[in-house]
Amino acid sequence: MYKLSGVTKNYAKGRQTVAALRGVDLMVEDGEWLAIQGPTGHGKSTLLQILGGLDRPSSGIVDFDGRDLAQLRETEVTKVRATSIGFVFQTFNLIPTLSAQENVESALVPLHTSATVRRQRAAVALDAVGLGDRLRHLPGELSGGQQQRVAIARALVKEPKVLLADEPTGNLDEDTRDEIIGLLETMWRDRGLTMVLVTHDSAIARRAQRIGVMKNGRLSFRRVRTQPSVPHASAARADLGPLDEEDTDDLQPPDLPIAEASSGDFLSGP
Ligand code: ADP
Ligand code: MG
Repeated sequence: MYKLSGVTKNYAKGRQTVAALRGVDLMVEDGEWLAIQGPTGHGKSTLLQILGGLDRPSSGIVDFDGRDLAQLRETEVTKVRATSIGFVFQTFNLIPTLSAQENVESALVPLHTSATVRRQRAAVALDAVGLGDRLRHLPGELSGGQQQRVAIARALVKEPKVLLADEPTGNLDEDTRDEIIGLLETMWRDRGLTMVLVTHDSAIARRAQRIGVMKNGRLSFRRVRTQPSVPHASAARADLGPLDEEDTDDLQPPDLPIAEASSGDFLSGP
């Protein structure tokens, strides 16, 4: 699905340059669920945006199903995004003046489907996330968890191959967090999605098939779980157990050191 090599991203910040990504190599298989952890400000969102074609790297290759998103023309990248990549954000990013139904429909506008088909598909997508009875509600009339469900419906209504989620439970309480992760996991399994999920929360990351850690703009893998040949077999995942409470910052458990030591300052001068 994805094959990234030597991906860097520099941002100009005043007179300084921030090296947000410092040479990321990453393969993501079709149907895989990859979690990405790491401290704030170390490049997780930048990486996700580049995976989603929302931003371009400063250098490197971002191969998505055989096409380099770093090199494609903007109209082509827009097309890939509109058809193949769904996003979910921490802050839901719903349009406050549009109903749940209209928010979900908005994802289909670039696909030039008829208004009738848009309406039907949006209703089906909202039903699939358990909001079939909330179609006309505005985001402000919904709870945080419900708003994130709308956002998930909006991301999935176009039936993308990939779902990219940036701290999707970061604004939710514990119970709602578990509901939303359960929903994402169901969608991932049932729809054969490829999912990359950025999370601060180790309990969530441990449910993924693989955990990457972003530190100082570099990605390393702290463990690789041996997977069954059928990537979506739920039975094989039963040993992972339910979400539980624990320190959300155990990024470097002593038995699983991060392979790559960080080097140098995160900020480099001009
Ligand atoms: P994370 O998601 O891990 O918290 P980000 O990818 O958002 O980290 O940010 C990585 C670094 O890049 C940070 O130092 C951040 O300030 C910087 N950065 C991110 N986006 C921009 C931007 N649009 N302009 C300038 N600097 C940015
Ligand atoms: Mg971020």
